[in-house]
Amino acid sequence: MKTALVTGGSGGIGAAICRRLASEGYFVYINYNSSKEKAENLASEIGGQTICFDVSDNSAVKIAIESISDIDLLVNNAGVSEIELFTSIKQENSDRILDINLKGTLNCARAILPPMINKKSGNIINISSMWGQCGASCEVDYSASKAGIIGFTKALAKEVAPSGIRVNCIAPGFIMTEMNSRFSKEDLELIREDIPLGIFGEPRHIADAVAFLASDQAEYITGQVLAVNGGMVI
Ligand code: NAP
Repeated sequence: MKTALVTGGSGGIGAAICRRLASEGYFVYINYNSSKEKAENLASEIGGQTICFDVSDNSAVKIAIESISDIDLLVNNAGVSEIELFTSIKQENSDRILDINLKGTLNCARAILPPMINKKSGNIINISSMWGQCGASCEVDYSASKAGIIGFTKALAKEVAPSGIRVNCIAPGFIMTEMNSRFSKEDLELIREDIPLGIFGEPRHIADAVAFLASDQAEYITGQVLAVNGGMVI
């Protein structure tokens, strides 16, 4: 049985990815940081296992990942955002965004790669954002973290391709989850008008893209950014 580790598996997109991978036959390790109950309910639902660690804490990541050897697929999905002017955001919040979104992605990949390199196979999928592709006003730190994930994906893909490991990235558009619960009904309507397909994304749209990139149908695809955004950024 193939195994997958999904960081932020307790959240909206992460949970959809866990469910989809389980339906594809993966045994799924569901990472969470604070949402224990959500992660445990999901684990009972899909027959997976929860694993608690903060992706930004490098030693915790190493210890946790060493305890679950032989992972075939890592989905770096954990992430946080904040809407604030670049010149007004608190330094600690800026650090938190970069530490979780970008350094957390690097931490998990670095911890999981040695056994993948030894067995000459593996798959890493990083969740970026359309804002990492084109930038968002008032989400400058977030955009920088997500653009960093794109650069990381491309560089790592080149480095580990000779070891039979593929590394790709998904750049979601506006997906209806807790992360976007701060928007008012009026804001949401304005945003929807900017989406050419005219509807908000759902977590399952990202889960479908993960399932594709993880599958053998994508065996010749590495170092790419797959935009799943209803045409919002083309
Ligand atoms: P969400 O529902 O708020 O979920 C965020 C997840 O990240 C939660 O499972 C949370 O776990 C986890 N997380 C946060 N800090 C963590 C840490 N330090 N260590 C481990 N896990 C941590 O958000 P979402 O919409 O599903 O977002 C998932 C990913 O998609 C993020 O990377 C986000 O940037 C990206 N994305 C989302 C959208 C969108 O429109 N929703 C668009 C583009 C990209 P706990 O709750 O257990 O702490």
